Amino acid sequence: MLLHASGLAKTYATRATAFRRASRVAAVAGVDLSLDKGGALGVVGESGCGKSTLARLLLRLIPLSAGRILFEGRDITALPEAALRPLRARMQLIHQNPSAALDPRLSVADAVAEPLRIHGHDPRARVPALLAEVGLPGDFLHRYPHELSGGQKQRVCIARALALEPRLLILDEPTSALDVSVQAQVLELLEGLRRQRGLAYLFISHNLAVVRQVCEQVAVMYLGRVVEQGAIDAVLSSPRHPYTRALLASVPRLGGGGVVLEGDAPNPAAPPSGCPFHPRCAVAREACREGPAPVLRHGVACHLA
Ligand code: SF4
Repeated sequence: MLLHASGLAKTYATRATAFRRASRVAAVAGVDLSLDKGGALGVVGESGCGKSTLARLLLRLIPLSAGRILFEGRDITALPEAALRPLRARMQLIHQNPSAALDPRLSVADAVAEPLRIHGHDPRARVPALLAEVGLPGDFLHRYPHELSGGQKQRVCIARALALEPRLLILDEPTSALDVSVQAQVLELLEGLRRQRGLAYLFISHNLAVVRQVCEQVAVMYLGRVVEQGAIDAVLSSPRHPYTRALLASVPRLGGGGVVLEGDAPNPAAPPSGCPFHPRCAVAREACREGPAPVLRHGVACHLA
């Protein structure tokens, strides 16, 4: 097992305003997940469902409110920053927006060399090889981010993330800012890199079609909770949770914007009683509104499953 997280939670306190009392928002509310070496787990849901917060918790970029994280068998939940640093080399994050992730003052060579230098490695031989691995020719070494297309910038970000030989890439909507044809090329590159390097991916997306292309497993999130989890083919061919069914019915084309579901997502600061999905659920019953929130059992969190 490469990564194992249990009971992960993140709660934020909101400030009181003239119109609203202070409250607590559970961005992530008790998530369990596991990822094998070389495995690929997709985390899907609408924007605001907590999937990006989950990624940051796993990387210990933000403090946990509760839970436990094991990486390569080691409990990293409470590791101090200095002890986390060498581990961070082995678990890298790739952002949605490559333009924001790259420093405009650094050439491609310097951007890819930076993590190597920080960790005390000589970047000279490694940088051209990394660029070749992500499909960029050598003459890109001296270019700057403003001279690159969106897809080329994302390739530079991937090369930079690979520089320290990670075992895990956490990809936060890595293709959603790219044109459709470029998305397909970047997904192909990611698939190839995973095979060749034996990398594990935690792939965050609002788009089930994208997740299907890259991952074997999927976790569907709604209001900070996992509501369905399992092998991607099984979940896509026979979804058991009404939210997964609604997401599938609204799958955008590759390259489309976010998913659009019937009804507004509830305010996380005042989640609905009972099952959090009940105000939007076509098959909700009285027990769904008034009973306890369903917990994940046998891969699904729904009273009717
Ligand atoms: Fe719908 Fe009830 Fe299942 Fe929630 S528990 S998803 S409201 S059927």
